[in-house]
Amino acid sequence: MVQTQIHPPSIAPVLTRPPVPESFDDYLDGLSDWLKPILHRVVEDEQELSSDESLALTHTSAQNLPGLCRAASILRDRGKGRVVTFSPKVFIPLTRLCRDFCGYCTFRQSPTEAEMLYMTTEEALEVARAGQRLGCTEALFTLGEHPEQRYAEAGEWLGKAGFHTTLEYLTHVSSEVLANTSMLPHANPGVMSRRELAALRPVNASMGVMLEILSERLCFEGGPHHLAPSKRPSVRLKTLDLAGQLKVPFTTGILIGIGETRKERIESLLAIRNSHRQYGHVQEVIVQNFRAKADTAMGDHPDAATEDLLWTVAAARLILGPSVNLQVPPNLNQTDYPLFLTAGINDWGGVSPLTIDYVNPEAPWPQISKLRERTEAMGFQLKPRLPIYPEFFMDRDDFASPAMKKRLLDMSDGDGYATGGVERYVNASN
Ligand code: SF4
Repeated sequence: MVQTQIHPPSIAPVLTRPPVPESFDDYLDGLSDWLKPILHRVVEDEQELSSDESLALTHTSAQNLPGLCRAASILRDRGKGRVVTFSPKVFIPLTRLCRDFCGYCTFRQSPTEAEMLYMTTEEALEVARAGQRLGCTEALFTLGEHPEQRYAEAGEWLGKAGFHTTLEYLTHVSSEVLANTSMLPHANPGVMSRRELAALRPVNASMGVMLEILSERLCFEGGPHHLAPSKRPSVRLKTLDLAGQLKVPFTTGILIGIGETRKERIESLLAIRNSHRQYGHVQEVIVQNFRAKADTAMGDHPDAATEDLLWTVAAARLILGPSVNLQVPPNLNQTDYPLFLTAGINDWGGVSPLTIDYVNPEAPWPQISKLRERTEAMGFQLKPRLPIYPEFFMDRDDFASPAMKKRLLDMSDGDGYATGGVERYVNASN
C-alpha cells in the first residue's frame, strides 16, 4: 500500500460567501512574505505563474490557505464571472471489463463478476432516451480500458457483434445515440490512439481522459497503478496531446489522495497547462478527490482531506489561469462542496437525475434543486451547460463539425448554455 506523503495542516473550513476584497492588499494581509509576490504577479500583473512559482505553492501553510483561495477566486471571477455550470447527464457504463487493475477501483469487473459483458446498443439507447425525457443533454460513456486485450470473452462478444475492439463498438453506439436521441455523447474510455480518437470525434460532442497523477512512483510495486499500464504517465499524456492535435474538446483532470505528493500534483497541472498551451483543447479540468472503497487494495487508505482539496483547487486555478473551467464533483464532497467555490471552481460537472455514479456508487449526486440552493447561497448563478463548453463552439468552427455545431446551436441559448435554464431541472426534481 502506498502511504500518502502529504500532511496538510488542519484548518477549520467555514462555509461562507467568498469575501470580496476591497483592494488587492486586503487579501495579501497575513500572508507569508514569500507568497505575496507570487500572488501579486498572477492577480495584479495578470501574468502566468512560472513552473518554479507554481511549485513554490507546495509550501503553502494553513495560515496562507485563505489568502490563496481568495486570490484563486478573484481569478475565477475575472474569467468566469459568477456563473457556475453543471451538465445534466446520464451515465452509460458500456462495459465494466478492463485490462487494468487500479488499487482504488470498484468499477472494473472481470467476466465472471459482470452481469453483462457489454451493454447492447439498444440498452444504451434506452438509457439515453430516458435521460432525454428528463431533459438531460449529455450521454456520458464511461468504460474500462481495452478489455479485449485481457479477456477472450470480450473479444468474442465484440466479434459476434461485428467489431474488433471496444472502441470500435463505442464509436458505433455513440453514433446511434447521436442519430436516434437528442443526447450528445461524451466518451470517456481511457487512453486512445490517434485512429480511435479520430473515429470517435465526429460522433461525440467532446471527450475526456483523466490524467490522474503523472507519477512513475505510483506505478511501482505496491502503488495504486502497478497493475495499470493505462495509467503510465507517458501513455496518459500522449492521449491528451493527440486529442489536442485532432481538435477534440477535451476534459481532463487530476485525482488526489492516492499517495501522490503536492509536487506531483503541481507537475500534473503544469503538464495539462503545457498541452493546452500547445493545442488549446482542454475545455475543463477536474480536481477529483480519492474516496476509499471497501474491498479494494486501498480500502484502508484515508480519504483526501477537505483542506488538501481546497489547496489543490486554488493552486489549479492560479496555475491554469482565469479562463480555464475548473470542476470539483459535488457528489464526492456532499457536505462541503460549496466550499470549493471559495477556491476558484466554476463547474460541478455532470449531474444525473436518473443514473448513479457507477465509479463512485456510494456517492449520490445532489438534487439539482439543492445544488442550485447551495450555489446561490454562495452568491453564484447555476446554469446547465452542454457537454461542450460555449467557448468551444459559439464563435468558432474548429472544434465541432458543421453538423455538430448546428445541433449545439439548436440546443443552446444565446450564451451557449443549455436552453431552458436550471428551472427545467429544478421543477423536474421537485
Ligand atoms: S480505474 Fe479505470 S483503468 Fe483503473 S481498473 Fe478501474 S476501470 Fe480500469
